[in-house]
Amino acid sequence: MSLEPVGQCIFCGNEGKFAYKDLTDVRFFVEGKFNLRYCTQCGLFWLDPRPSPGDISGFYEEFLKEEPVSAQEEQRYLNRPFALFRNRLREIILCGYFGYRDIHARHDLCVLGKILGAFSFLRAKATYDFCAFFPRRNSDAEAFIVDVGAGNCLYLMLMKKYGWRVMGIDPHPDSESKCRSAGIPFFKGTLEEAKLPSNSVGYLTMMHVIEHVYDPVATINECYRVLKPGGRLLLRTPNAGSLAHMLFKCNFYSLDPPRHLFLFTPKSISLLVQKSSFKEMRVRLLTRVSRRVYLHSLSILKRQKIDNHTGLDYLLSSLFMFAASFLSFLGVKCAEELELEAIK
Ligand SMILES: [Zn+2]
Repeated sequence: MSLEPVGQCIFCGNEGKFAYKDLTDVRFFVEGKFNLRYCTQCGLFWLDPRPSPGDISGFYEEFLKEEPVSAQEEQRYLNRPFALFRNRLREIILCGYFGYRDIHARHDLCVLGKILGAFSFLRAKATYDFCAFFPRRNSDAEAFIVDVGAGNCLYLMLMKKYGWRVMGIDPHPDSESKCRSAGIPFFKGTLEEAKLPSNSVGYLTMMHVIEHVYDPVATINECYRVLKPGGRLLLRTPNAGSLAHMLFKCNFYSLDPPRHLFLFTPKSISLLVQKSSFKEMRVRLLTRVSRRVYLHSLSILKRQKIDNHTGLDYLLSSLFMFAASFLSFLGVKCAEELELEAIK
């Protein structure tokens, strides 16, 4: 494998400091030792050295296989207690708050959905945790959703089911076969390679993609070019300023060398968008994955297989989740996930 050095912060030009030296891949055992540097000015973390662009695709072979099987997930969902009630509640919120009028015929309770949708935790439940990634239907019904890093395609299948025009982009062949078998238009490669027409996309979504790209500034500029005026970029990425990072240091699950080339903090993700021409921008912090990041980091610390946990581990993960939620409530920006929404 060939490596390339990355000497400076892509925003500030600082050499930064070493956060960790000689990190190894403890998940899929890709060869090599990697350092993680961080910028003392903006808080950006970056991998140095990193694999050369041609070499990295092979590291994702195992990656897609690890994702949950959708049918099993769906069944587990249907078997939950009060499934019918939950489903009715979801419909009321999706119709009343999000404007999905076509999902059912009886609208007698949908006015209640407007009120219930004001609570963010109910909004999250109603949108299968996709929140801002689940666009309101009344805005621009003809808008096109393009998901970069389509992965197992579950998100696009859901959006298609809810009536959106969708397209997937992903360099991985497994993602291509999943999207194509679901009847979803697909481009195999990167957003830049797809060369979409300018001003053509209503919603551009990137879930846990930006930390993998070689030139995040160029990728965000490409997002801006392809979005329509008023179009939205939505992305999620790990938070390098998170509670699990403070606790687990070099065993923090989201470091994931050599697949994660950059890690952002609330400040550095804002800088990324400020370098482009987006009009409006919001950064939110989500505790959605806190429990999972805690448990995975613990596995790395103990050098054991992921998902091999004791009852005590699960108990502590709940405490961790509670602490993260409470600190977030107090305004401390230490949740595990950053969500960025930018409007062209
Ligand atoms: Zn910097």
